Amino acid sequence: KIAIRDVCKRFGTLTVLDGVSLDVHQSEVVCLIGASGSGKSTLLRCINFLEAYDAGEIRIDGHLMGYVDAAQKQRRPMSDRMLRQARRDIGFVFQQFNLWPHMSVIQNVMEPLLRVRGLSAEVAVKRGEVALDRVGLTDKRNSYPLRLSGGQQQRVAIARALAMEPSLMLFDEPTSSLDPELVGEVLQVMKGLAAEGMTMVVVTHEMGFAAHVADRVAFLDRGRIIDVGPSQQVLHESKEARVQQFLQTYH
Ligand code: ATP
Ligand code: MG
Repeated sequence: KIAIRDVCKRFGTLTVLDGVSLDVHQSEVVCLIGASGSGKSTLLRCINFLEAYDAGEIRIDGHLMGYVDAAQKQRRPMSDRMLRQARRDIGFVFQQFNLWPHMSVIQNVMEPLLRVRGLSAEVAVKRGEVALDRVGLTDKRNSYPLRLSGGQQQRVAIARALAMEPSLMLFDEPTSSLDPELVGEVLQVMKGLAAEGMTMVVVTHEMGFAAHVADRVAFLDRGRIIDVGPSQQVLHESKEARVQQFLQTYH
């Protein structure tokens, strides 16, 4: 489904991704973990080309992401139109929920359906309501984001992504800005998606989620995946000293 091959990314002289390869199969949940600055967000952002990678390939269902062809020397970036098409089936949920404060919950969820998909208001409302139901926020339909808790706001952001009917969801620390007591409700929604077979790549510090929901865990260290495998194996039996050391801070 997603095939990441030898991806490199530099910011100036700083190499942030240093030959990353990773496959994510359909309906698989993969958690990316690692220290701050190890390149987790950058890798996630490269998958939907919010960041352009410098070398290597990212293919989604066989289609090269971001570039017109794979040749290393003359990479030609996609046109905006092609990029929109390539991103069509990818949902992205950020640490900061990025809701539009002047729009109600249902308007937030409908907006991309109207603007990006060009759906009629009538169809968009129906789809928006289904998405809100999936995250348990039907009753907040007409509220404004600032009147909601952080956990509710993040569930609205997830509903907005789901309403676009993605086949792949990317999450970048979706619970990191939440008060501890609100983390569970967001993880519960994500767990539900995983159970329904959604393909997910999740950057997280929630080791419980990684252990119990992820199929596999990849550990990034200074721009390289130094361990990857079934969650239990990476989280409890890793032979890599860096991984053990990192995980110790969570026990
Ligand atoms: P965190 O856990 O703190 O979110 P991360 O693993 O997500 O960390 P990244 O955000 O991917 O790390 O950053 C990796 C490195 O790239 C860091 O050294 C960061 O400072 C650098 N970096 C990220 N974005 C940019 C940018 N736009 N310009 C320059 N440097 C950047
Ligand atoms: Mg990050």
